[in-house]
Amino acid sequence: MIWYPYAQMKTLDAPIKIERADGVHLFASGGHDLIDSVSSWWSVIHGYNHPKINAAITKQLESFAHVMLGGLTHEAVQRLSDKLADMLPGDLDYCFFSDSGSVAVEVALKMALQFNTNRGSKRDTILALEHAYHGDTFKAMEVGDDEDYHFAFGKANEKKRGVVHIPTQTDALEDAFARYGERLTCFIAEPLLQGAGGMRMYDISFLKRARELCDEYDVLLIFDEVATGFGRTGNRFVADLVLPDIEVLGKALTGGYIGHAVTVANKRVWDGFYSDDPTHALMHGPTFMGNALACSAALASIELFENENYIEKIRRIEQISRREFEGFGDERIKEIRIMGGCVCIEVKDESVLDGFRQFAFERGVFSRTFLKYMYTMVPYVISESELVCVFDTMKAWFRR
Ligand SMILES: *Cc1c(COP(=O)(O)O)cnc(C)c1O
Repeated sequence: MIWYPYAQMKTLDAPIKIERADGVHLFASGGHDLIDSVSSWWSVIHGYNHPKINAAITKQLESFAHVMLGGLTHEAVQRLSDKLADMLPGDLDYCFFSDSGSVAVEVALKMALQFNTNRGSKRDTILALEHAYHGDTFKAMEVGDDEDYHFAFGKANEKKRGVVHIPTQTDALEDAFARYGERLTCFIAEPLLQGAGGMRMYDISFLKRARELCDEYDVLLIFDEVATGFGRTGNRFVADLVLPDIEVLGKALTGGYIGHAVTVANKRVWDGFYSDDPTHALMHGPTFMGNALACSAALASIELFENENYIEKIRRIEQISRREFEGFGDERIKEIRIMGGCVCIEVKDESVLDGFRQFAFERGVFSRTFLKYMYTMVPYVISESELVCVFDTMKAWFRR
């Protein structure tokens, strides 16, 4: 029996069975051809079955699929860490690999906490955002702020001593630093776009101010770019605009081929662990960290991203999105938000979206709404007509 995610198994709608996938198309049993508007949880940025990524994985497979990084190393992981160091801004150069975004967030938080204990500091508080989503493991849930995902584990504040959540407003940020600044180990944020918390978008000025305050109070700034990395906001990384001390990447890292993630630290964080004292070492090591197939897929994905003008592709997606939703509205809609490769229609009442998945399916679109959010996070290789088809399907739902 398969236990499916985020769902009551007793009332689960039967999942759509995929037999083949190519480009932006999912081919489901029964002869259905669906445009994927979700990119398999926002990761498949180059589309499915990409010949270059397929070839990279196949080539690596001829040598070996996996060796552990405990006592061993290999070319693919070395090349990927060099590539990431090269590609990421500033001195974000020190790459700790793991198998999923949640684990990479755990590693980032662990780094921040131990960075402080290694220097003899007793700071014990983490600053995070309201509506944050950082993954489903326990510490990631604690810094997260989403009852809709983690309702089984108690309300905020009951279980979350040691984490302070603030809205994305500069006065709240300044207040929090004034009150807790001396006690903070780190501030963790999904920069510019909060994904699973409801595709909430906010302004870069908030992050610029956060950087200043982190410097002033000697607090590490962590960007969880698991969702926003590799272009989703229209920027390569939000880290290109405001430089964090620790950057977390996942989802699109391997082009959505193989689960893998990375926590990238700057020199200062690295130096906080680099010593003759063995107790200052970072004690973490996922079994499959630096998996050779995942690293090969990531290298091929990054090469495509850099060589095939993806920022331009994303800009075009954003332009088409704005054009198609210009003047569109409905009394059941609270707000339409657009940023880079993401569109979100937030409705006033979540029951408005009941039945949309089937409606979209019948029109050749795969969509997965959640709560009050109907959204798209399309593969960047989508054509204009395919994108318009997705948007027409969304608009048609409100025009029934
Ligand atoms: C998806 C996501 C995660 C968790 O990644 P997994 O690979 O699902 O563990 C963490 N942070 C953000 C911002 C995400 O969108």
